[in-house]
Amino acid sequence: MKQTDVVIIGGGLTGLTVATYVARAGLQVAVFEKAASFGGRAATQDHQGYSLNRGGHALYPGGAATRVLRELAISIPAGSPRNVQALLQGQFFPYPGDPVSLLSTALLKGAEKWELLGLLARLAMLKPRSLASVSVQTWIDQHARHERVHRLLDASARTLTYSGNLELISMEPFLTQLQLSLRRPVLYIDGGWQTLVTGLRRTAEQAGVHLHPGTRVEAVLQNDGRVRGIELSDGRLYEARAVVLATEPADVARLVDDPLLQQRLAGLTPLVVACLDVALQSLPRPDRPVSLDLDQPRFYSAQSLFAHVAPAGGAVLHALRYLDPMAPGDAHEHERELEALLDLAQPGWRDRVVRRFFLPHMQVMGATPTANTNGFAGRPASRVEHISGLYLAGDWVGQEGYLADASFASAHQAAQLLLTDLAGQQQAATGRSGPELAA
Ligand SMILES: Cc1cc2nc3c(=O)[nH]c(=O)nc-3n(C[C@H](O)[C@H](O)[C@H](O)COP(=O)(O)OP(=O)(O)OC[C@H]3O[C@@H](n4cnc5c(N)ncnc54)[C@H](O)[C@@H]3O)c2cc1C
Repeated sequence: MKQTDVVIIGGGLTGLTVATYVARAGLQVAVFEKAASFGGRAATQDHQGYSLNRGGHALYPGGAATRVLRELAISIPAGSPRNVQALLQGQFFPYPGDPVSLLSTALLKGAEKWELLGLLARLAMLKPRSLASVSVQTWIDQHARHERVHRLLDASARTLTYSGNLELISMEPFLTQLQLSLRRPVLYIDGGWQTLVTGLRRTAEQAGVHLHPGTRVEAVLQNDGRVRGIELSDGRLYEARAVVLATEPADVARLVDDPLLQQRLAGLTPLVVACLDVALQSLPRPDRPVSLDLDQPRFYSAQSLFAHVAPAGGAVLHALRYLDPMAPGDAHEHERELEALLDLAQPGWRDRVVRRFFLPHMQVMGATPTANTNGFAGRPASRVEHISGLYLAGDWVGQEGYLADASFASAHQAAQLLLTDLAGQQQAATGRSGPELAA
């Protein structure tokens, strides 16, 4: 049996972040990642100079992700999308996401523009928490009178939340993401999100974290309400004072034999999308960079126009189909819908394909913050109260942030709680103070 202070299961953004914070406080930390390389859902496929994220990703500046990355001194080389368009009945219009486009777009008539302006001003001022138990669909139905304004808000909400079921999802994430994006434009990262993973991995190594790629954890060992360590799939055992689960909820349920926790996790609704990721020799229509579809739950972006993710002259496109977790539908149909979207936006793209990946069922987040479960407040907490030494972290954990912001916020929170708990135990046992969270 090997020994370490802390085991982290999962080497995505969350696991690497928790590990760095805990190791910087002076504890021995081991990260186990079942895949051959780190990154999880933030990993980027590299193919002949094309960097393809697993589905279109955008970082929202001003949230927990950029806060933690800054604190860990990880740089974010990136560009922001411009000339965003709205697609309605086969026609492309300027998307009225800023005052200039709002005035100039032919998508809306005068009264519609005034209505949208008023609603955006209102949405910018509302406290996200105050509408946590209201669904996006309910709010839009109650407030948007004109049909096109309604459709625009629907499409914006889908794009910002990645949700294909606006009746289910709470207003809290929509308001959170909208307000972030109104303050500062989103970022497409040079080299894809792998750039963040590489930065986090390097920072973790510098902090002294022991990284174990290609190593699957089989089970978390516990008895008498206390974590004892882990068992690897090859039978090796690691003894640890604390274990952090930085995986998706379904993995947690498999790893921890605890009916109470499993019951809690069974109540979560994952958020899923279908993705078509394409590398092209060249871009047929550079004047069609990003489109929100007002007719169907689809979105498309030519990220290579704004970030270094393709070789000179080449292009990377990401198309997304937002799925309803209650009725996920047919994968072949979704692939055809995404191809059809690219036919509209980038006619001739099929003749220029270098590489393409269709991912029919990507889990964007482990838990949808629903209106019924009171938004972010309905997500599990970082500390598993009835199993001492066990912590959770990920985009489905804790009360702060959405998407990767929740991953980073809960990673910081889990590290903080773990260090406080271990320091308390050390103080009680020896009378000496223990480790503290250090950036
Ligand atoms: C299509 C798509 C689009 C997205 N777009 C955005 C966006 O625009 N903005 C944004 O902020 N976020 C976005 N996200 C979300 C973001 O990618 C995730 O929040 C983030 O990457 C989650 O990181 P994580 O480390 O918590 O989880 P993961 O990346 O899932 O990492 C968990 C790791 O645990 C490992 N693991 C599981 N079980 C075991 C085991 N038994 N033993 C060892 N290892 C194990 C897995 O292999 C995995 O690497 C998107 C996600 C997707 C899928």
